[in-house]
Amino acid sequence: MLARYPFLPEARNILSGISLDELFTSEIYEDARALGFLRVRSSITGEPVTMPSIARESGQKVIFLSFFVAKLILIALDDPLVIRRFANVERDKLVKSLTEVPEDIDLIASTFEIRFRNDENGYVIHFIDFIKYAKNFSDERFRLIKQQVNRGWLPINRHDFVLLIREAFVERFVNEVESQKEYGKYIEKYVKDELRELENLKDEYVSNYTSFDLGKVDADAFPPCMKTIINKIKQGINVSHEARFSMVAFLHKIGMSNDDILSIFATVPDFRKDITEYQIKHITGEISGKEYSVPKCATMQANGLCVKHVVKDKLCEKKWMTHPLLYYKIKKESKSKKAPSKQNKSAEEQ
Ligand code: SF4
Repeated sequence: MLARYPFLPEARNILSGISLDELFTSEIYEDARALGFLRVRSSITGEPVTMPSIARESGQKVIFLSFFVAKLILIALDDPLVIRRFANVERDKLVKSLTEVPEDIDLIASTFEIRFRNDENGYVIHFIDFIKYAKNFSDERFRLIKQQVNRGWLPINRHDFVLLIREAFVERFVNEVESQKEYGKYIEKYVKDELRELENLKDEYVSNYTSFDLGKVDADAFPPCMKTIINKIKQGINVSHEARFSMVAFLHKIGMSNDDILSIFATVPDFRKDITEYQIKHITGEISGKEYSVPKCATMQANGLCVKHVVKDKLCEKKWMTHPLLYYKIKKESKSKKAPSKQNKSAEEQ
């Protein structure tokens, strides 16, 4: 049960007997450490987790402990994107388990303090809990107005009830990890190399993730570094090769056509169409055959192109802001949330 549902309160009985030092240094927990790291890694890369061979033999306890190793690594990593990707992977596993073993539904729903009762047609859930966990679904059937509420309770079928439970899991897991980030400094020393690898993988993922649905280009959502470069070019100010390169790679990645990118350079007094066109085609891979990645924030800073200290942008100030594409994605998403409510706060405010 605990390997399948490691968040059950009974987990504390096992965990209370293991110190942080033991978990991260003792040979006994070597497999749990390896598997825990792989679980986080796989949540970024999407590659399946290959169980270490010894872990397969020592079985369920290693799987159970690896969940906590992964959670501690996430606390030390303190990266909202990776925390949520990991939570989503576990969320999907939870749905699978509850679909395969529906007898577990009552126990898990109670663990997340969801107020519900069994009903001959499925379940009835308290409307407050329904609202709390249904808010992430856009489908009509999750709107309160569509429900038949009877004295605060409403009927819900098993499938939808499991979906609400999964949202309760994500909310609790993310809150638990984020609320413990001050303990990250005690964990970091044990997993320095792993954290570095995960950070690099995350940067690579942000830069190359092709299913990033960036949609239509939205210039208002551009990060300050890119806006600054574009403004300088438009004012005829000469910018460095790195600045041109970063801007072209960025605009190409968010879906701007080569012709539109070219038109930005067209305002420059000494604009040479043939040379600029060649440079754009080279960076976007049309000539070179290699599509260059957009430089991450650390590279932008090293090249003197990051302007976060000048513009004092709230998003750029975040510790986890590591990539101009990540900035663009978050800014664009928060802008598209029309009339944000208290529940729908923008990422900038969080
Ligand atoms: S923090 Fe990143 S996104 Fe923001 S200005 Fe600097 S390089 Fe650009």
